[in-house]
Amino acid sequence: MTKEKIEVFDSTLRDGAQAEGISFSVEDKLKIVKALDALGISYIEAGNPGSNPKDLEFFERVRGMKLVNAKLTAFGSTRRPDTPVEEDANVQSLLEANSEVIAIFGKSWDFHVTEIIKTTLDENLNMIMDTISYFKSKGKEVIFDAEHFFDGYKANAQYALKALEAAVKGGVDWLVLCETNGGAFPDDVYSITKTVCEKFPVKIGIHCHNDGGMAVANTIMAVKAGATQVQGTYIGFGERCGNVNLSTVIANLQLKRSYQCIPSNQLMNLTPTARFVAEVSNISLNEREPYIGNSAFAHKGGMHIDGVMKANHSFEHVNPDKVGNERRILMSEVSGKTTILSKIQKINPNIKKNSLETQEIMNCLKKMEHEGYQFEGAESSFELMIRKHLGKYKPFFQLKHYKIIGEQPSQDGDSSTAVVKLTVEGKDALTVAEGNGPVNALDKALRKALEEFYPVLKEVYLSDYKVRVVDTKKATGARVRVLIESTDGHDVWTTVGLSTDIIEASWIALVDSIEYKLLKEIEKKANIYLVEQRIN
Ligand SMILES: [Zn+2]
Repeated sequence: MTKEKIEVFDSTLRDGAQAEGISFSVEDKLKIVKALDALGISYIEAGNPGSNPKDLEFFERVRGMKLVNAKLTAFGSTRRPDTPVEEDANVQSLLEANSEVIAIFGKSWDFHVTEIIKTTLDENLNMIMDTISYFKSKGKEVIFDAEHFFDGYKANAQYALKALEAAVKGGVDWLVLCETNGGAFPDDVYSITKTVCEKFPVKIGIHCHNDGGMAVANTIMAVKAGATQVQGTYIGFGERCGNVNLSTVIANLQLKRSYQCIPSNQLMNLTPTARFVAEVSNISLNEREPYIGNSAFAHKGGMHIDGVMKANHSFEHVNPDKVGNERRILMSEVSGKTTILSKIQKINPNIKKNSLETQEIMNCLKKMEHEGYQFEGAESSFELMIRKHLGKYKPFFQLKHYKIIGEQPSQDGDSSTAVVKLTVEGKDALTVAEGNGPVNALDKALRKALEEFYPVLKEVYLSDYKVRVVDTKKATGARVRVLIESTDGHDVWTTVGLSTDIIEASWIALVDSIEYKLLKEIEKKANIYLVEQRIN
């Protein structure tokens, strides 16, 4: 059975760029285009070349890229009221993008026509028709984004449909129904989309925002009603509460319903692509995001873990492998002996449930958790702890001492200087680095000292840093737990440190992060036997 094709239209670089806290450089945009194209996204919308020089530069550079799956789309509005298309600067600048596809947004809600852009209802229809037929005459594929379509339809269905009709008269290829304010319900989206699909002989798309938390449901219902293009942003960011999260929509439609959104062999790149887009966008991916989040397949409670070990589907709706994510078993004393044993056996398969080592590690875990350590979400530190107990660990360097000097007010934003002295492979290494805070300076100095010996550390950087006060009653004398998330652009790992001194807690987590990376690197390069020889 051939699956019905759904065209995925990504607007991370346009609607997504309007999200709070997001700002893309031209380089960032090119990286995202490359990643989304490789994943098999059909359309990539990338802004308006006329709106700023940065966008124009982007369009010039992207022309040099060979896209395999995606069509690049420029975005702009219908011509202004009472202005011929040929004289409209924005319309003309859209041609400069030289893109295969153009998305034009226009008004379909009568109230917006008369009260916001302040023109007549008839002129708005002419604006839609003229602009679209103009781009069609230039040989473009044209998408019409009917802004506020659902609210418009509820206020004045006849006029909202007339706006679509004007686009069809102009020769449009796609009518995209926009749920711009994001407050609609799935049943309404379904029935209105169905009406439109039955009425017009062109392809229909859907564009939802998430203000009511229903963007995914609304999108799926529109597809059910006959829409064959889904617009959104890959990891869901966009103005206000964001656009529909395409990674969720793709997984749902392709795994739970028989639609083809991206090539089947690309589904396993759903999660890596999400992490990559988040990284380039400089935001941390919501860990509870369906399918692609770090916690999407994380199990903690003892009974859940026991169930998942016996049969994965007992507590998982799909297999994480299908979307390139992984199952995580979170470490804590509530996870039970079996779980901890499975972690231990990954390092030494000979150890049994009643081995002395298992008991020792259990006791150590209990003691450390009592002190305020927490290993759930910091499995890398937990793995190092096990290795230390099993003698499967060798330090990569010895700390002699570190010093931090703070300076306020700061010069050029660097308020701290760190001096680190280490011994690596019998040699002393002394480095100094400045940073925008003590942990940043310490991280830089430590890396500077080690990179010479372990160049692979150049790929590693901190992607998140969290501090929790453990015993709040002691206020500033309390212990703090520092969680550091690191990445090398491919893997993400988290380590933990605990101390009454925030710098020391950070240091412990930093050292774990670096040691973990180096251990993984050895395992990757040499085969496992060589590792054992080196450690023993
Ligand atoms: Zn939008």
